[in-house]
Amino acid sequence: MLNVPPPAFPAPRSQQRAAGGGRSKVPLKPGRSLMDWIRLTKSGKDLAGLKGRLIEVTEDELAKHNKKEDCWICIRGLVYNVTPYMEYHPGGEDELMQAAGTDGTDLFDQVHRWVNYESMLKECLVGRMALKPVAVPKGMLPEKKLLGVSAKDLTPSYDWFQTDGLITVVIYTKQKDMNAELVIVDCQDKRLRGEIIVNEHSYVLEVDLDHEVEDFFINIAEKIGKVEIILKKKDNVHWKMLGQPLESHNTFIKRKNRGLFYRKCKLVSKTEVTHDTKLFCFMLPKSTCFQVPAGQHVYLKQIIAGTEVVKPYTPLLPFLPLNFKEPSCHDSANIYLMIKIYSCGLFTQALDHLQIGDCISISNPEGNFKKSQVQALEDLFFLAAGTGFTPMVKLLNFALTEVSSLRTAKLIFFNKTEDDILWRNQLEQLALKDERFEVQFVLSEAAKDWMGKQGRISSSLLSGFVKRSRKDSKVLICICGPTPFTEQGVQYLKDLGYSQEEMHAFTA
Ligand code: FAD
Ligand code: NAP
Repeated sequence: MLNVPPPAFPAPRSQQRAAGGGRSKVPLKPGRSLMDWIRLTKSGKDLAGLKGRLIEVTEDELAKHNKKEDCWICIRGLVYNVTPYMEYHPGGEDELMQAAGTDGTDLFDQVHRWVNYESMLKECLVGRMALKPVAVPKGMLPEKKLLGVSAKDLTPSYDWFQTDGLITVVIYTKQKDMNAELVIVDCQDKRLRGEIIVNEHSYVLEVDLDHEVEDFFINIAEKIGKVEIILKKKDNVHWKMLGQPLESHNTFIKRKNRGLFYRKCKLVSKTEVTHDTKLFCFMLPKSTCFQVPAGQHVYLKQIIAGTEVVKPYTPLLPFLPLNFKEPSCHDSANIYLMIKIYSCGLFTQALDHLQIGDCISISNPEGNFKKSQVQALEDLFFLAAGTGFTPMVKLLNFALTEVSSLRTAKLIFFNKTEDDILWRNQLEQLALKDERFEVQFVLSEAAKDWMGKQGRISSSLLSGFVKRSRKDSKVLICICGPTPFTEQGVQYLKDLGYSQEEMHAFTA
């Protein structure tokens, strides 16, 4: 039997990250949910079709298996028989068939890097590719000149020194305007992991420390881009070295190619927002320090029926702050998530069953929204449907607090019924308090006595709502909701003459 090596970094059990682009889910037949798939994988059925053997697959052999009823796909050097999975695939058979009989790694990375395929498809494993092309690891900066500057010059570096009680690790990020949202540190059980975000890249320092530490804190010299991780020694001994380098130590790669890093967070509260939506508060462990920037999401990971399941959620504030005169203080120890519990939802049902004190794995933040998109902005619009409201909260707070040029911030909020509207009171209060802010609710299943707007997203609705406060004003329109809602919204806005740069669609 072939000994299949673990795929290269990211580690086999780690999750990959969210894909961009609007990918529509395909309605699945009854009995074809993720839970049904998990059950099938546990049934002992020979899903790979090789009676438990693993084989070495040549490119010619792979190419032969290119039909729905006999479909093999290679992902990162491992070959899977995906025929049994076809009907369970949320993206539909056609999406899988695009990679039939070929290397589907790029396609997989485009649409669902964050899905743990190793766990989901382990029973479908056929074997590994016989010949692996030798390639430079994806995302590594080439050692050539990059826009006239050598890649080496851009790569952060580190150094360390010690006093009797402290170890100071200094990271020279070579990046101006470093700030706390770009620094993620975990230090637990002698393992130190520091990640620095530098535009599209990520620098990681990861070591098994020489000795134990009691606590740590972080200093950031924003202007010169120097980050200090100061570790408090547990024992006042002299360290011979910082520690043993771990797998990702001193690497500088594209963010999208970095495996997600998770830590266990404790559920500290769960409060009702509407009949089906709850605000969950998770506490980061003391050994972790990070902030989730506005517009970014995290991944939550749970083991459900023995399989790792990962879903993205967008952290927000515990409430809508009403006083925008002062910058809001950061509650960086807690992560607040507003989550709709679907009656047949695999992940949300499991979340709903968590008890206070239970732990769940939460990843580093991700997302392609940049605060610079809001800089010097005059008109900000939000088109939100249901929980698509969540990315808007931090963003709205940031814009009203810190963007001095802002003249208007308008939210058009689509829901089925009045009972579904999230934070309605808070939004109405904010509109009363801050004259720049306006909110309009649109219901698709309105009761007879609803006096407000009705219907779904449409060109006529948007043309009446999304208007520049003055000719040529700098505008950004953020849109988030079910994928078809977002896609339609983007199309209507294009038809209304807004450019790509003037829109931001939050997608999965
Ligand atoms: P599943 O088991 O996948 O689906 C079961 C049933 O639930 C479906 O048949 C359908 O009826 C319903 N359902 C499931 N997913 C959706 C969906 N996406 N849209 C409409 N109906 C659905 N959700 C939040 O509640 N809060 C957030 O802050 C949030 N942030 C997100 C951020 C990103 C970047 C993305 C891509 C999604 C976000 N979601 C958020 C959605 C979330 O990731 C899950 O899709 C959702 O919680 C359903 O998971 P589930 O396993 O319970 O449902
Ligand atoms: P929902 O209650 O089902 O729908 C909210 C409103 O959107 C309803 O008025 C609904 O109208 C309308 N709508 C739904 N599908 C539509 C479509 N295809 N075209 C036009 N209008 C449509 O929404 P939800 O259950 O809260 O779901 C929220 C969605 O946002 C989820 O898909 C979630 O994944 C997504 N989300 C994404 C992010 C992100 O960052 N990418 C963050 C949070 C949430 P009808 O009654 O007519 O259906």
